[in-house]
Amino acid sequence: TEARKQGATPCAYSKPMRDALLRRADLERTMEGALEQGEFFHLVQPKYDVTGTRVLGGEALVRWSRPDEGIVGPDEFIPLFEQNGFILRLDEFVFESVCRNLRARLDAGLPVVPISVNVSRLHLHRPDFLSTYVRIKDEHGIPDGLCELELTESIVIEDLHGMFDIMEGMRRAGFRCAIDDFGSGQSSLNVLKDLPADVLKLDRDFLLEGSLPGTEETVVRTVITMAKELRMDTVMEGVETPKQLAFLRTTACDMVQGFVFSRPVPPEEFYRLLDENAE
Ligand code: C2E
Ligand code: MG
Ligand code: MG
Ligand code: MG
Repeated sequence: TEARKQGATPCAYSKPMRDALLRRADLERTMEGALEQGEFFHLVQPKYDVTGTRVLGGEALVRWSRPDEGIVGPDEFIPLFEQNGFILRLDEFVFESVCRNLRARLDAGLPVVPISVNVSRLHLHRPDFLSTYVRIKDEHGIPDGLCELELTESIVIEDLHGMFDIMEGMRRAGFRCAIDDFGSGQSSLNVLKDLPADVLKLDRDFLLEGSLPGTEETVVRTVITMAKELRMDTVMEGVETPKQLAFLRTTACDMVQGFVFSRPVPPEEFYRLLDENAE
């Protein structure tokens, strides 16, 4: 109606829709070259113990450094790459980069901690998924237990039965297996007992303004308690404030990943933090 008042001709696409399509086409046209040119890289966000004194692990998070534009975050390109399949190669690239860094640390006799990578749902339907990840891990001679694969809750829920075998396979192959974003969707606590996960990552939605304190505190505490009883490590994601931290210290939560301790940082910076720790 606004457009009509101004006398514009009605068209099939509104300006924001057209911009989004152009953006999409641009990202899609340049993605292959970008991978070859080294425009993709990853940051690592540390996972600390609840007191914030020890770095117990890290999560690799992909970024795209675009010429003339700067750094673009995954929320802008991952949904697109999941549609066009490019995420398969990008995930493998990130995993390979993580393994290369771990190898360099091991060669130098420096401390290492488990590093997790996010695995897109697209991999799980591929018969060669696990063998590809195993090959990359073995090519770099990474010992068992240092690489962790994160599967988001929504993937897990889609196919609970199939997920059991997938997770078992991952663990037999020497990977740690994490359920990411737990609590962001429709899953019930009940599913946890049927999944052979090593790590449960509680979604930061649990901590959103107005959620804590009160009933949500009870929910978080219950999830953590249950996960611990099932012998899973627990990670609270997206912890931003000292108040949230103070609450988590009253729970059995093993690790905290959030801006309160550190943003995602370049791998060199992450390993510098780890070395400071070891001193
Ligand atoms: P995720 O796996 O749940 O990763 C955690 C996200 O929360 C990261 O966003 C991280 O920067 C952000 N975060 C951490 N602490 C805080 C905090 O205290 N406050 C707030 N507001 N945010 C916090 P990022 O890096 O933008 O990644 C977004 C999502 O993109 C990831 O969510 C993951 O689902 C996906 N992603 C990232 N890298 C990859 C990748 O290499 N492959 C795949 N398939 N997905 C990836
Ligand atoms: Mg994740
Ligand atoms: Mg997450
Ligand atoms: Mg999340």
